[in-house]
Amino acid sequence: MARTDAIVLGAGIVGTSIALQLAKRGLGVALVDRARPGGETSYGNAGIVESNTVFPQGFPSRLAVLLRIALKRAPEANYHLRHLPAALPWLLAFRAASRPGRLVETARIMRSLFARALSEHEVLLADAGALPYLHRNGWLKLYRSDRVFAAQARELALAAEFGIACHPLDTEAARALEPNLAPVFRHAVLWPGAASVSDPLAVTKAYAARLVSLGGVVLKGDARSLHRADGRWRLETAEGPLDASDAVLALGPFAPEVLARFGIDLPLGIKRGYHRHFRPIGNAGLTRPVVDIENGYCLAPMTQGVRLTTGAEFAARDAPPTPVQLDRLLPAARELFALDDPLDPSPWMGSRPCFADSRPVIGRAPRNTGLWLAYGHAHWGLTLGPVTGRLVAEMMTGATPFCDPAPFAAERFAR
Ligand SMILES: Cc1cc2nc3c(=O)[nH]c(=O)nc-3n(C[C@H](O)[C@H](O)[C@H](O)COP(=O)(O)OP(=O)(O)OC[C@H]3O[C@@H](n4cnc5c(N)ncnc54)[C@H](O)[C@@H]3O)c2cc1C
Repeated sequence: MARTDAIVLGAGIVGTSIALQLAKRGLGVALVDRARPGGETSYGNAGIVESNTVFPQGFPSRLAVLLRIALKRAPEANYHLRHLPAALPWLLAFRAASRPGRLVETARIMRSLFARALSEHEVLLADAGALPYLHRNGWLKLYRSDRVFAAQARELALAAEFGIACHPLDTEAARALEPNLAPVFRHAVLWPGAASVSDPLAVTKAYAARLVSLGGVVLKGDARSLHRADGRWRLETAEGPLDASDAVLALGPFAPEVLARFGIDLPLGIKRGYHRHFRPIGNAGLTRPVVDIENGYCLAPMTQGVRLTTGAEFAARDAPPTPVQLDRLLPAARELFALDDPLDPSPWMGSRPCFADSRPVIGRAPRNTGLWLAYGHAHWGLTLGPVTGRLVAEMMTGATPFCDPAPFAAERFAR
């Protein structure tokens, strides 16, 4: 029987960062996944370290937008009709959490994590020899209409209150930064304090490699074999049984089926998303991610090509892919930037694990001694992986947490 201090289940960016933060604090750590580190949701994101985030994505407040989504004409969102009955309670909770007052409350709560997100990545990237993947030149949000740009006033005001730098730009000033964007938008906002990584998979792999160099192990195993034995947590792995006093579940969108075994049922929703890589036409290039707000997609320069990522699709996690949003938004994307043929044979799909209040669950699992939870990072798992790792590691080692963990506790759903 092999023994270690902590077993971290799930080697996405969240679990891998937690394992590394624990190992840096001197704990023996086994990072366990059924596949290789970083290969699921953490592979296919837009690579933005969104330390600037103020408001989370909210339920559409304009009837016209809702109608466009309902009629399946919206590039920014899609849904499977047969999934709606199951998703309804979550959608209602999401709508309630999207009221203006609640969004401000969420922005204030989440600031404690976002404010440290980039600096925690910088430390881990430097440790892991992966700084070349980091680009500290922010990201650009583009607005095609005056009306939608004007609606951002609240966000910009709160950003100023939080001390987050943001620069509203006109079309030409934005094109001075990204000359290959066509002038099809009227306004832009540069968020210079954010950053991006040009290969999210390589970053997770680098963190896993750093874990190993600190004495941790990366093993294959199925989280569903986790159980209590002799007052400790025991897991079957490809290398044999392993036990530890503590176990951390960081399974992202795959957490519910494992948590159900321990009597834990938290209301996790899924927002699926797609990406596809494109070759740019000629010498066109981008130096930072850009988001076309009205059309709900992002173009991000990656080592694999220009990665076009979509907004949300409300569908069962394991239902077959329906990448219709890519078809809906490609004309707008091609109008904005010279995209040539796709580089991959078919779109990639991943599932954002989302709680309706747009906060992850981080902390002790209810009613299970030595079990910890860290999942539900929604649109910001890449951003928040390392800072989540720090918070979990501080709580597990008895150090003073850098922020109040109470708003992220699982118990908030019991109230
Ligand atoms: C299109 C798209 C764009 C995005 N863009 C951004 C962005 O720009 N910035 C940002 O911050 N975030 C972004 N996100 C969100 C981000 O990618 C996710 O929040 C994040 O990847 C979640 O990480 P995770 O480690 O929690 O989950 P995952 O990466 O899914 O990791 C979970 C791991 O658990 C493992 N696992 C599952 N079941 C078992 C089992 N039974 N036993 C063992 N292992 C198991 C899986 O193999 C997987 O490795 C985007 C997401 C999408 C879909």
